[in-house]
Amino acid sequence: MQQPVILITGASRGIGAATALLAGEQGYAVCVNYVRNRDAADAVVNAIVAKGGKAMAVAADVAIEGDVIRLFETLDAKLGALTALVNNAGILEQQMRLENMDAARLQRIFMTNVIGSFICAREAVKRMSTALGGKGGGIVNVSSVASRVGGSGEYVDYASSKGAIDTMTIGLAKEVADQGIRVNAVRPGVIYTEIHASGGEAGRVDRVKDAIPMRRGGRAEEVAQAIMWLLSDQASYSTGSFVDVSGGR
Ligand code: NAP
Repeated sequence: MQQPVILITGASRGIGAATALLAGEQGYAVCVNYVRNRDAADAVVNAIVAKGGKAMAVAADVAIEGDVIRLFETLDAKLGALTALVNNAGILEQQMRLENMDAARLQRIFMTNVIGSFICAREAVKRMSTALGGKGGGIVNVSSVASRVGGSGEYVDYASSKGAIDTMTIGLAKEVADQGIRVNAVRPGVIYTEIHASGGEAGRVDRVKDAIPMRRGGRAEEVAQAIMWLLSDQASYSTGSFVDVSGGR
């Protein structure tokens, strides 16, 4: 039987890196996508290989269609038939109120978080769909609890981009449910990763953690477990579903 193949976008750091390591342990051949941080991506690949797994790093900006097409073609050639996609690459920008956001910022957020996820999903469906000659597979979109709570005062743009991802999860899941593809999402709460520094507040998790019912931030590994469960046969009747990994928030 062919080794299952997984593509995780934005897997050089944070939730994506934790998911890549877990997927490697579970026997997947792992494509570790990143945009800039080659050393970090190589470190993830090396950690998987050191445990006897198979992995490769591929630089590609998910917001650029040509990059995404090259990413998938590289994966086809080097790892074989794709079984799973984790649409994880995502960005947020400096915390600010909506009245101060310019169009360029909105374009960056929506190009990466929404259009990037759509283009990657498109390329995955083309390869996995049983109606198009594929063998089926799974997609997990990494949304956010922000889609439910709105990101007020900090990043309504980012929260809204995750709202779009939630809707895409529901719609695409129905579209490909009879083509052997399950599409689900995880909605992390506040997780200890470097993303908060790009919002201008590296210590955000510790600032807000007392408002979380469990009174703590989450770990990337906890999100990775939910992602890999949704991709597994144990979740065989789940599609268009959401798993919140948010400490009760
Ligand atoms: P992170 O630590 O900032 O890591 C972001 C990853 O995405 C890096 O690997 C980065 O690559 C990659 N990336 C960024 N822009 C990209 C692009 N245009 N194309 C390809 N890769 C790109 O982020 P994280 O906290 O792990 O977040 C991962 C996902 O979880 C995101 O979708 C985020 O919205 C979501 N999420 C996070 C939290 C949280 O509290 N951390 C909560 C809810 C949802 P480089 O290393 O090359 O820069």
